[in-house]
Amino acid sequence: MTDTYDVIVIGGGPAGYPGAIRAGQNGLSVACIDDWKNLDGGHAFGGTCLNAGCIPSKALLESSELVHRAREEFAVHGIKLAGIEVDLKQMQARKAGIVKASTQGILALFKAAKVAGLPGHGRLLPGRKVEYTGLDGNKTVLTAKHVILASGSVPTPLKSAPVNGREIIDSWGALELGSVPKRLGVIGAGVIGLELGSVWRRLGSEVVVLEALDAFLPMADGQVAKEALKHFKKQGLDVRLGAKVSGASVKDGVVEVAYTDAKGPQTLAVDRLVVAIGRRPQTLALLAEGTGVTLDERGFIKVDDECRTGAENVWAVGDCVRGPMLAHKGKEEGVMVADLIAGHHGEVNYKTVPSVIYTAPEIAWVGLTEEQVKASGRPYKVGQFPFLASGRARAMESTAGFVKLIAASDDDEVLGVHIIGPMAGELIAEAVLAMEYSASSEDLQRTIHAHPTLSEALHEAALAADKKAIDFPNR
Ligand code: FAD
Ligand code: NAD
Repeated sequence: MTDTYDVIVIGGGPAGYPGAIRAGQNGLSVACIDDWKNLDGGHAFGGTCLNAGCIPSKALLESSELVHRAREEFAVHGIKLAGIEVDLKQMQARKAGIVKASTQGILALFKAAKVAGLPGHGRLLPGRKVEYTGLDGNKTVLTAKHVILASGSVPTPLKSAPVNGREIIDSWGALELGSVPKRLGVIGAGVIGLELGSVWRRLGSEVVVLEALDAFLPMADGQVAKEALKHFKKQGLDVRLGAKVSGASVKDGVVEVAYTDAKGPQTLAVDRLVVAIGRRPQTLALLAEGTGVTLDERGFIKVDDECRTGAENVWAVGDCVRGPMLAHKGKEEGVMVADLIAGHHGEVNYKTVPSVIYTAPEIAWVGLTEEQVKASGRPYKVGQFPFLASGRARAMESTAGFVKLIAASDDDEVLGVHIIGPMAGELIAEAVLAMEYSASSEDLQRTIHAHPTLSEALHEAALAADKKAIDFPNR
């Protein structure tokens, strides 16, 4: 290990490690310090996303959806299966294998890009020096021309329901359960609550989700949120809105949750309680006095549009800075900063960051919701196409949901695309590309889509914006 680098990245999650790799590709000498600790105490690069977030949750979502389909949907295809059993140990082992392959893959990527991966803690000192504490506890002071802070985020605690790691758990705990709880409570009907609530519901838990707000998924388009709630309720997810939790106590392995809703004080007894009320930036022991890096009132590291902090040549990316807490947003910021440092062009278009909720049906969107467009005062038109009218969706037996496209009435620019339905997370990529290139709905209308594909639903929604849909009556 040398002690001087062009770039030191602190944090090896999906914001930090891609930044380090791009810096290496740009011919810069680079080290990436990361202090992730797995449940067995071992280290792995990849941060929350690979170790305890995106990847393990999607592995369990996939497995549990297969269980659901085998139980509820195979018969309609003419497939009869008797005695379907869930082997949770194998399901968890598959998930662990995927996580391991993904995190170990980073080591190979680091090697190829000549990145020095340094397991341990990093603390920024004044003057772009970094105190590196290795896993053996030894401290070394490293120097860099540029430092990228990518320290990520941690779950937001809830005072009235403190996590104890057994009965009351956070999202990581909810990914690691060794048995299916009979009754599962979730505080927070956000992305984690819905995804992990779905996993355990499909595997047999009775799931109650307590949401403080009266509105369901307020960040999504209203019509999509309404459609989603309808499907989740049908699946047996008991989502209770306007539920303010005042306490949670454990007695004989049962969690008694006290909350108040519109009807007054309520109680709920569950075997496991997941607290998923959001995440907050992680900056613990990251910044020494006098670095010049400042935090905003919510604890995020303050940065400009190009992720520069107030300190010279110190940058910050990912969940520890403003913007949506999404792996792909962090990745683009890490790559942008590494390119800017090397003197190349770099930018992130925050208007086209897609959001995906990996439930069934899947939910995905990019750009403005109808409510936001309406509030802006800009005249607009809406094109909508239900998956019920898609030949491919019918063949897949996945006809729930629709594609909704919003375009400006004046110049036809696509302002937002909202999808609830099969493979929505994949379909949204076309809308992101369209918006990245400022496409009009006519551009999408004139683009040939293969038949029969789910992507035809986006094509038809674009046509419907001008009342030209072919496969569904225009309104
Ligand atoms: P992190 O992934 O949190 O990584 C930060 C890393 O820095 C960690 O390894 C941490 O240990 C290390 N670190 C912190 N401080 C220091 C220090 N001082 N020295 C050394 N190392 C340090 N997002 C999506 O886009 N899609 C999804 O499907 C998705 N699913 C999710 C599911 C769950 C259950 C959760 C919890 C999150 C999910 N997210 C998803 C969000 C996603 O995981 C985060 O947005 C993403 O991980 C943020 O990346 P990051 O690199 O900024 O931070
Ligand atoms: P979230 O912000 O998505 O949802 C938190 C929910 O909890 C909100 O609906 C909020 O109103 C509610 N809430 C807050 N305080 C509450 C209280 N005291 N009682 C009841 N409800 C309360 O946060 P999350 O689900 O914890 O996820 C954290 C982050 O991880 C999010 O920013 C999300 O973007 C990211 N994530 C993304 C994905 C994905 O991209 N598919 C998946 C999981 C997590």
